[in-house]
Amino acid sequence: MPIESINPYTGRTERRFRAFSWPKTERILGQTHRAFADWRTTTFEHRARLMRRAAGLLRERADALARLMAVEMGKPLADGRAEALKCALCCDYYAEHAAGFLADEQIATEARSSFIAYEPLGVVLAVMPWNFPFWQVVRFAAPALMAGNVGLLKHASNVPQCALALEKIFHDAGFPPATFRTLLIGSDLVEKLIEDDRVRAVTLTGSEPAGAAVAATAGRQIKKTVLELGGSDAFIVLADADLERAAKTAAQARMINSGQSCIAAKRFIVEKPVIKEFIAQLKTHLLALRPGDPLVPTTDYGPLARPDLADELTEQVADSVKQGAKVELHGGQSQPGTALFRPVILSHVKPGQRAYAEEFFGPVAIVLEAKDADDAVRIANDSRFGLGGSVWTRDLERGEQLARRVEAGAVFVNSLVKSSPQMPFGGIKKSGYGRELSYLGIREFVNQKSVWIA
Ligand code: NAP
Repeated sequence: MPIESINPYTGRTERRFRAFSWPKTERILGQTHRAFADWRTTTFEHRARLMRRAAGLLRERADALARLMAVEMGKPLADGRAEALKCALCCDYYAEHAAGFLADEQIATEARSSFIAYEPLGVVLAVMPWNFPFWQVVRFAAPALMAGNVGLLKHASNVPQCALALEKIFHDAGFPPATFRTLLIGSDLVEKLIEDDRVRAVTLTGSEPAGAAVAATAGRQIKKTVLELGGSDAFIVLADADLERAAKTAAQARMINSGQSCIAAKRFIVEKPVIKEFIAQLKTHLLALRPGDPLVPTTDYGPLARPDLADELTEQVADSVKQGAKVELHGGQSQPGTALFRPVILSHVKPGQRAYAEEFFGPVAIVLEAKDADDAVRIANDSRFGLGGSVWTRDLERGEQLARRVEAGAVFVNSLVKSSPQMPFGGIKKSGYGRELSYLGIREFVNQKSVWIA
């Protein structure tokens, strides 16, 4: 895949980049590896000072960064700005808490002194997706740099300008250039990088096939990985839910980033007595959203990030309909090869249909009927994925009980699923393993060393 920015709304190529050769990539890896020797000896105070500066720059440049996201992957300006500000929050969070999260932990044993020390590993390679081109990277980079690691970013090939803008932010904030580098490379060089002894660990956010490929190479090299992969989050609506709030949030949760979010609600599992009304309300909310040019401030949702992604989604919908699903809201592409995709609602979704089993990475709401709460949990768990989920009910105790039974890395009661720096984020089953954010995230890429003094 060439490394280029193509505006998905206009189809115009904005910029083209020559992919780095292996010798150039290898040279940068060498510089990064050497930078680790110094970086690991710096104090938390020093790192925090730089990380707070990076946060400041993310805020200062939020409008410019939002523009880049709009032209490279179709995100509306307001959403891009919000993403940049959330990244700043994450930088500030780790600037403030990293020292505490990684402080020596005294353990009572028969030794004179025994404790756990958290030490950095070295070069961590991050393979990242285009859908939240700043947030996905910052939630890796902020804790990694604060822990004393150094980072190499291989971003998705359609967001090179975002990748370079983020590198510049860290450099302008004062991080030594080799502590964080963007590699403009295709996925063909990833295996070679992982096989190099100087790369100590890998984190990947993206699809299941990419995760499996990266983890297989890392496994052969006995290297730690964190995988944040796909999801098909359940949004369970019980008959006693505040239906108006649930339907309104459902539309929002499905349409995050034009439906291209791993934690977007994708399967709406609704108790029979309220399913008709839920679909009617969901339809009204979806139809009220304005599609269009992401650079125009009144646009609610932009195109998908690439036309081929819209073509693939059209195929998933068409196959599901052939297999028995019913279209409750007709949307989709105006013609093949275009990236704008209007919301679709599918009902009568049953096992054996693509809509039942696969992740639909775009604005298609899949509605499934549940006989009761137990049936809803059964359907929610009948999925290869386990990233997030939500439960809607006025009975909070019951909501909590059901939340515990949903097989996922995060379950929210009466709220859409979202990530925040304080709470761990990650999946189970085919959604991946390991955690980002919170104190758990910063402890993924450190040597948790036992020290025993007799
Ligand atoms: P993708 O095709 O897997 O790409 C993600 C990254 O992996 C890109 O940098 C890509 O590089 C690289 N890549 C692809 N195949 C590879 C391989 N065989 N070896 C090494 N690297 C490889 O995913 P996407 O289409 O960008 O993103 C959509 C998927 O990501 C969805 O399934 C979504 O749910 C998931 N996602 C998960 C999370 C989470 O936190 N769990 C967050 C966001 C997205 P190129 O661009 O050069 O191909």
